[in-house]
Amino acid sequence: MRILKFGGTSVGSESAIRQVLKLITEKQKEDRIQVVVSAFGGVTNTLEEMVSDASAGRDEYRKQLKKVEQRHVDMVRTLIGVQGQSSVLTELKVLFNELEDVLHGVSLTHELTGRTHDFVLGFGERLSAFVLSAALQEQGIDAEYVDARSIIKTNADFGNARVLTTETTQNIREYFENRDTVGVVTGFIASTETGETTTLGRGGSDYTASLIGAALDADAIEIWTDVEGIMTADPRKVERHLPIQKLSYEEAMELSHFGAEVIYPPTVYPAMSASIPIYIKNTFKPESPGTVINREPADISTNVKGISSIDEVTLITLKGSGMIGVSGFAARIFSVLADAGVNIIMITQASSEHTVCFAVMPRQAPQAIQSLKTNFSFELKEGMIDEIKEESNCSIVAAVGEGMKHTPGISGRLFRALGRNGINVRAIAQGSSERNISVVVKKKDLSKTLNTIHDAFFLSKIKSVNLFLVGVGLIGNKVLELFEKQAELLFKEHNIAFNLCGIANSRYYKIEQKGMPFTGWPERLEEDGKPMDLQTFLDEAGELNLPNSLFIDCTASSEVADFYPEVMRANFSVVTANKKANSGTLHHYQALQELALKHNVMYLYETNVGAGLPVVKTLKEQVLAGDKITKIEGVLSGTLSYIFNTYDGETPFSEVVRTALEKGFTEPDPREDLNGRDVARKLLILCREAGIEVEMSDLTVENLVPESAREADSVEDFFEKLSDFDDEFKKRYDKAASNGHRLCYIASYEDGEATVSLEEIDDEHPFSGLSGSDNIIAFHTQHYRDTPLVVKGPGAGAEVTAGGILADILRISNVPAFSNEVV
Ligand code: ADP
Ligand code: ASP
Ligand code: MG
Repeated sequence: MRILKFGGTSVGSESAIRQVLKLITEKQKEDRIQVVVSAFGGVTNTLEEMVSDASAGRDEYRKQLKKVEQRHVDMVRTLIGVQGQSSVLTELKVLFNELEDVLHGVSLTHELTGRTHDFVLGFGERLSAFVLSAALQEQGIDAEYVDARSIIKTNADFGNARVLTTETTQNIREYFENRDTVGVVTGFIASTETGETTTLGRGGSDYTASLIGAALDADAIEIWTDVEGIMTADPRKVERHLPIQKLSYEEAMELSHFGAEVIYPPTVYPAMSASIPIYIKNTFKPESPGTVINREPADISTNVKGISSIDEVTLITLKGSGMIGVSGFAARIFSVLADAGVNIIMITQASSEHTVCFAVMPRQAPQAIQSLKTNFSFELKEGMIDEIKEESNCSIVAAVGEGMKHTPGISGRLFRALGRNGINVRAIAQGSSERNISVVVKKKDLSKTLNTIHDAFFLSKIKSVNLFLVGVGLIGNKVLELFEKQAELLFKEHNIAFNLCGIANSRYYKIEQKGMPFTGWPERLEEDGKPMDLQTFLDEAGELNLPNSLFIDCTASSEVADFYPEVMRANFSVVTANKKANSGTLHHYQALQELALKHNVMYLYETNVGAGLPVVKTLKEQVLAGDKITKIEGVLSGTLSYIFNTYDGETPFSEVVRTALEKGFTEPDPREDLNGRDVARKLLILCREAGIEVEMSDLTVENLVPESAREADSVEDFFEKLSDFDDEFKKRYDKAASNGHRLCYIASYEDGEATVSLEEIDDEHPFSGLSGSDNIIAFHTQHYRDTPLVVKGPGAGAEVTAGGILADILRISNVPAFSNEVV
C-alpha cells in the first residue's frame, strides 16, 4: 500500500491534472494506493480572501466566487465526457450553493468565527477531491471520493486543530479495511467529535497523507509536488540550490519547522513513528529521484544538509539582573507564554542569564508582550527586569544536518561567512541535538544570509564573486579584457565564477544581478546606461544583496576615492588603482584601514605603487613578520625612469622628454610626471604602509619643471620653455659623469626624512643598472641589513596595472594561490 498526496500545484491546471491521472493510473496497476489531494492551486488563498471580504461587508467576494466556480466547471468539462458531466456538475452546484450561503451569512452578520472560517476553507479540498475522483472514474478506475471529515477527528482548535490520534487511526483502519477502491481523500480538513469542520493548518494535506499512511502501515508515503524533492534551500530564494537525495526524519522535521514549506512540519511524526519512508517527488518529472526521508543513518560526508528560513518573526528580549541565579525564571516565562497561546519558535539565553531572548510569529508578538508585562509587573516595577524589548522585521535562518553533530568548526565557518559579508546576527541558537544552528538576522539581510550560508556549505567548491567596476578608461578596459581571457580558466581550475554585476564611468552606470559580458564597454553604457551617481550606484548594488561583492576603482578621481567609506560601510571590499585615497590626509588613510577592519571587508591597492609589482604586499608582509623598515628607496615613476635612463647629455633634455611623450610614456602633459607629485604620493603611501605617520607636507619634493615653465599655457609652450634649461640639465649630467656617477630621480625615506629628488648614484648603488622604464624599490630593514630587499620590473602601463588589480581581486576572492586565509 502506498499513499500518494498531490499538492495544489499538481492539480492547478488541466495539464497538471492529466499528469496526475496518468501517474495514478500507472501506480494503481503496481500497488494498492490511496490518494490525498489538496485544493486546486491558489484556491485556499482565494477562499481566505473571500471570507475576509465577506466578513468586512465587501461584495468583491461574489466575483471571486464566480471565478472559482467557473474554474471547477471548466475543469470538469475538459476532463469528463459529455455523458458523465451533468451529474458531476450538479454535485458541484450543490457545493457552490452551500458555499455561497455561508459567505452570504458572514457578509450579513459581519461575524467570522474560527468555525466558519475553517468550514469555508475546507471547500477547496472537497471540490478538488470530488473532481479528481470523477475524472479517475471516467478513466475506468474504481475511484471513490472520501471526505476526511468522517475519519480524521480533531479537537476544536479551528485553524490549526490537533488530531485525536487513537480515534483517527481506528477510523482510518475501519474505513479502508475491506475496500478495493482507490480512495481520493480530501487533504487538510477534519472534524470535531460533534462533526464541525476543522483544518490541520495551512499546508496540512501532507499531514493527512502521513496520518493515513501510518494508520494503514503503508509501504510509502509519496508527496507529489512541483519541485524535484527537498532542496538545499528554498529554490525561490537561493538560485543555486541543489537537490537532497536523503534526509533523516529529524532533519526533515528541523528543515520544515524552520520554514521549508515543501513539507508541512507535523507530517514527519506519524511516518517516523511507523517507520514509513516519505518520498518527495515532482509530478512533472516523475523519473527524477526526488528525496527520501527515512530512518537511515545520516550521510556524514555532508555536514549541513539544508538551509531554511522563516521570513518574518519578532524577537522579544527580557533583560535584567533579577533573572540571574533565580531558578524557574525561564520556566515562568514559558508558561506565561504558553497560557497566552504564544508559540515560541526559538529561544536563546545568555550564559550570564542576564537576558532571555526568543522569537515568535509577528501576529503573536502583541499578545506575548502583553502577557509578559502583566505577569512580570512586579519584577518590572522592582527593576529586576529592566525592559521587555520587541524587535520586529527579523528572520530566522537555520542550517540543518545530522552530520553537524560532533563536527567542530561548523559554526565557525557559518559565522565567518556571515561576518565576511557584513551580516549582523541578532541572536543565535544551536539545538542541543547539534542538528541545527539558527540565527536571527534583520529581514532586509535575509536573502544575502541564505545565499551566503548556502555558498559557504554547498558551493564551497564553486564560489561566485560579484564585481562592481567604476572607470572604464584604459585600465578599466584592460581589467575587463583580462577577465574575458581568464574567467573560464579561473572557473575550471579554481571554481570561482566572476560576475560583472555593475559597471560605471563618470557619466553612466549599469547594474545587472545576473552579470554582464566583459566586452563591449564603455559603448554598452552609452547605449542604455542610467545617469551615473555614486550613491545611486552603490544603493542599487547593495540592494542586490549579493555575497562577495567587490568595488573596483579604475579611475583617478578624488570624488570616487572620497566615497570609499560609504562603500565599505555597505560591506563591499575595495580594490583600487586610484592613489588619491591613500595619499590624502593621514587621518583619511587611517580611517579607511579602520573602517575596513570594522566592516570586515578587504581594502587592497597593490597597484598604487609600482603598478603590478608586488611592492605593497611585500612591505606589508615584512611589517607583519615583525621586521622594521629602516630605509626605503625607489625609482617610482616609469616615465622618469625612462627619461634618466635615456638621457646621455648629448640629446637635449627637452628632446628626451618629447620622445617620451611621443612614445606614450608620459601623461598628456609631461609636467604632471616631471613635477614629482605622483612619485611623492607613492612614497607617502609606502611610508604609511611601513607604519610611519607622515603627511604630504612633510615630504621634500624636487620639482623638475623649471619655475618659468610651470605656468606655460600649452604643452608646446612648456617644451619651448623647458629647452631654455637644456644646458642646466646637461651641467648636472656632466658633473655626475665626471665623478663616474649617473642621475636618478629617487624617492627615499630614512631617519624621519622623506624626500623626492634627482640624485647622483655610483656603480655600487642597487639602482645603477636600471634600464628602460623599469621601477625599482629597495627596502632596507632589520632583517635585510647588508643588502636590501629589492623589487624591480616594469612599473607602469595599463597591462601590468590591470594584472595587479586582478591579483588583488583574486586575493580577496580567496583563490588558493593568492590567499592568506585558512578556510
Ligand atoms: P504543494 O502545493 O505541492 O503542497 P508547496 O507550495 O506547499 O507545494 O511546497 C512546494 C514549494 O516549497 C516549492 O515550490 C518551493 O518553492 C518551496 N520550498 C521551500 N523550501 C524548499 C526546499 N528546501 N526544497 C524544495 N522546495 C522548497
Ligand atoms: N490547500 C491547503 C493550503 O493551501 C492545504 C495544502 O495545500 O496542503 O494550505
Ligand atoms: Mg504544501
